[in-house]
Amino acid sequence: MGIELLVNLSYVAAAVLFIFGLKMLGSPATARKGNLVSAVGMFIAVVITLLDQSIIDYKWIAVGIVAGGVVGAVIARSVAMTSMPEMVAMFNGFGGIASLLVGWAALYGFEANAFEMITIALSILIGGVTFTGSMIAYGKLSEKMPGRPLVFAGQRVFNILLILAIIASTVMFVLNPEQHLYLYLVVGLSALLGIMLVIPIGGADMPVVISLLNSYSGLAACAAGFAINNIILIVAGALVGASGIILTQIMCKAMNRSLSNVLFSGFTKVAAGGGMAKIEGEAKAMSAEDAYYVLEAASSVVIVPGYGMAVAQAQHVVKELQEILEKNGAEVVYAIHPVAGRMPGHMNVLLAEADVSYDLLLEMDAVNPRMDTFDVAIVIGANDVVNPAAREMEGSPIYGMPVINVDMARNVFVMKRSMASGFAGIDNPLFFKENTRMLFGDAKEMLGNIIKAFA
Ligand code: NDP
Repeated sequence: MGIELLVNLSYVAAAVLFIFGLKMLGSPATARKGNLVSAVGMFIAVVITLLDQSIIDYKWIAVGIVAGGVVGAVIARSVAMTSMPEMVAMFNGFGGIASLLVGWAALYGFEANAFEMITIALSILIGGVTFTGSMIAYGKLSEKMPGRPLVFAGQRVFNILLILAIIASTVMFVLNPEQHLYLYLVVGLSALLGIMLVIPIGGADMPVVISLLNSYSGLAACAAGFAINNIILIVAGALVGASGIILTQIMCKAMNRSLSNVLFSGFTKVAAGGGMAKIEGEAKAMSAEDAYYVLEAASSVVIVPGYGMAVAQAQHVVKELQEILEKNGAEVVYAIHPVAGRMPGHMNVLLAEADVSYDLLLEMDAVNPRMDTFDVAIVIGANDVVNPAAREMEGSPIYGMPVINVDMARNVFVMKRSMASGFAGIDNPLFFKENTRMLFGDAKEMLGNIIKAFA
């Protein structure tokens, strides 16, 4: 068998493993295995690529693998679960800059034809936008820069001129590859475009933006794959590009927004604009002991976790309370909102870590229709995803966003440390409802106190 055939067959095998791996990532029960299957695919792709005879220097590849491996392992071990989206933003950015560099490097060593020049230009352009856009998204999420939308007069006109300038310099670059000025212009202007595209978007929309940038990083890799004529890079890039855009769509749907609305109208800008009716009433606090009396008599309980559960690392105590309630004869389920926490699947990951059975995790659409049948809804560090303003207050920036309708349960217990708002920075009328009781304190401590009362 010729070496070329072996390489191509191995690439097909790797692509098949990627596709199966992705499919398995679609369900929490198979996600771990899916990760492994994809990793095996990537291992095959890397080994086969390294066997390519046109590689002239293995020394630098080895240095890159060791340096990247060490940095990646240290970061992955030290990053807190709550900071995962920031890390994903960084990864996307590095994916973008890698494609930019691959495209740039492809200019040397061989005579590119017109099609290859276009793909080189695209990998540089999309890679540049992805890199700087992701760095801004990182800055906003990690609060190293203000999360509010940064807007200035004439921004739209500026952006249109910028895009026209990029198109012009890309065309000139493709026509005159030996003129480095055009290359530098494409690099510089696309980097600027990445910044300009992300700064007007509010922090609350960053998850969607990160998912979109993930898709861009795939497109950049795909273009780089065409530029260097590497099939597996084209396939992997296309898969990342497609899955990123699908996730973006799912998230937009979960927030009841269109992508253009996310990209072009600042979430928090609307929030600052107000227009919300004033919330009337008084929030009523209760003690862990009082909560125990109600829970002791409850026969059905729904637990709604949110970002605060991640901060408090309360997932194990939540599981403990679930078991106690079940022993006491109650039915217990979890209601999971698609954007609860700070990354897609955040709550699923935490609850899986505590060994909560997947069967008990219900999606919002499955649990909402039967919300009024629950004796108690326990909200653990969730805020925006249970905010009834999304249904009731037309002026609210989250109006129309599907939320978990905990206020329709017979009793609602909200565990959080204060009356502070959540990620979207808006008030929550749930806290003032007749059937709501606030359990003020750290979620882990509060749950511990309720468990003690059961003992
Ligand atoms: P929110 O951010 O709306 O609310 C979290 C609440 O947790 C806060 O109000 C806070 O109140 C409370 N909290 C914090 N620490 C603790 C603690 N130790 N113990 C108890 N409570 C605590 O979270 P949700 O999950 O409801 O909503 C997610 C929000 O994040 C949405 O706006 C979503 O759009 C956004 N987002 C989602 C991402 C995703 O992909 N899932 C990614 C990035 C953003 P207090 O300070 O009073 O304790």
